[in-house]
Amino acid sequence: MKIAVLVKQVPSADSRLTLNSANLRLERSLTDPVLNPSDLHAVEAALQISDASDNQTVSISMGPVGVEQSTKRALAMGIDESVHVTDENLHGADIWVTANVLAKAILHCGADLVFAGTKSSDGQSEVVPAYVARLLDWNYVVVSSESELDVILNLKQPSVVVVTKDFNTPRLPNFKGIAAAKNKPVSTLNLADLDLADIAPKTKIISQTSILKENNPEKKSGTPKELAVLLLEQISKWSNVDDTQTHKPEINPASEVKVFTANQKVEAASFAAENKLALITDVGAAENDQFTKEIFDGSVKVVIECKGPSVITIAEVPSSKGIYVCVGGGVTSIDDLRIVAKSMEAEVVGTSAAFDKGHIGVESLVGASGRTISPNIYVGFGVSGAHYHFAGVRKPNYIAAVNKDPEAEIFAFADLAIVGDADEVLAALLQELGK
Ligand SMILES: Cc1cc2nc3c(=O)[nH]c(=O)nc-3n(C[C@H](O)[C@H](O)[C@H](O)COP(=O)(O)OP(=O)(O)OC[C@H]3O[C@@H](n4cnc5c(N)ncnc54)[C@H](O)[C@@H]3O)c2cc1C
Repeated sequence: MKIAVLVKQVPSADSRLTLNSANLRLERSLTDPVLNPSDLHAVEAALQISDASDNQTVSISMGPVGVEQSTKRALAMGIDESVHVTDENLHGADIWVTANVLAKAILHCGADLVFAGTKSSDGQSEVVPAYVARLLDWNYVVVSSESELDVILNLKQPSVVVVTKDFNTPRLPNFKGIAAAKNKPVSTLNLADLDLADIAPKTKIISQTSILKENNPEKKSGTPKELAVLLLEQISKWSNVDDTQTHKPEINPASEVKVFTANQKVEAASFAAENKLALITDVGAAENDQFTKEIFDGSVKVVIECKGPSVITIAEVPSSKGIYVCVGGGVTSIDDLRIVAKSMEAEVVGTSAAFDKGHIGVESLVGASGRTISPNIYVGFGVSGAHYHFAGVRKPNYIAAVNKDPEAEIFAFADLAIVGDADEVLAALLQELGK
């Protein structure tokens, strides 16, 4: 048996994910490449089987020249050889192209068991392994325990096995492994080698926008008391708006689009592969042949065009509920803020700067490294508006911000922009609330 592992080079967790504004492709110059974290579990699973049975293992990757640098990690962990598919025409590859390339590469390598991770940290579509399995007409299975894997192995049928992150703990490459990796075979294939010279993407990103609408509201200044009154009045108005319709996905696709729910990604991938169709996941809105979705943890919204028939899955829409008062690095009086939040029946969350100051615990940190909230009303005190924080604020209906800097980034996408000292406004709020 030959075991293949699908591995992908992705930007490291602290890279800022953006699309290049000219070609709408990942801006690699801003990223530090690493092996996709979820693929490390797939590599470990393959190695555990080969350690026990002496099967040959191969890692298969697809990407631009240079990708072999990060996939070397798989060799250092113990994989025997590495195959890398690279080609000029792979720029802008969509799920259709990616899955076809990987399926052909698997056959090229003579593998009959394939491991893959659950999702890539940049693409996050979670459908490529299922699409590949259907193209190959192999079993597709997701395993989270040894016993489930044993059942698959005993079937002795060609399979694509997705390994969840709880399944194992990936080994760290040791010095011997790193040294040995230098002499292991690394081969490069192009599309013609895989008989795919004519393959072309079926979908194309045609525009991108920031997820937070740029409101650039009028900036309000005044005495702390005036600002406190203004804030309370606005929050009261917003609280009375029925927002149940605000974020319903608007899906009016052309007739040749087959629509699946957010929970039917595997079914959608199988259907698309069986019918050789484009697949677009997590669609938030569809109008004729244009599909809008969020990428990069919700920080960027893109419009994807697909001229032919396609399959889509609808995005899971968080329902925006409640008031969240967010404490930022500009707040000193955390006790005042907590009292104000309590009287608004709001939950207190914070930024990493507030965490560093000891104002909040890690469970209240919101952002790319913390939790995600979907507030009806977000009120930020002394919050700058950093991208990494707002990556964790999904679909806020209303944003109010109190910041002493009129040029603070948060004001661009706030609905109410209050220029003032956060501590003074909090003290005035306490008075207005009779606390
Ligand atoms: C890989 C990575 C992951 C990250 N993950 C997260 C994450 O998950 N969550 C997160 O929050 N951050 C995260 N960050 C950090 C993020 O980039 C910002 O540095 C952080 O969000 C800033 O927090 P802040 O806006 O509260 O504080 P600051 O940047 O300190 O800004 C304070 C703001 O308050 C204003 N201000 C100062 N004093 C007052 C006052 N008296 N009254 C009113 N306004 C005042 C200032 O004008 C400023 O706008 C991450 C960064 C990286 C590199």
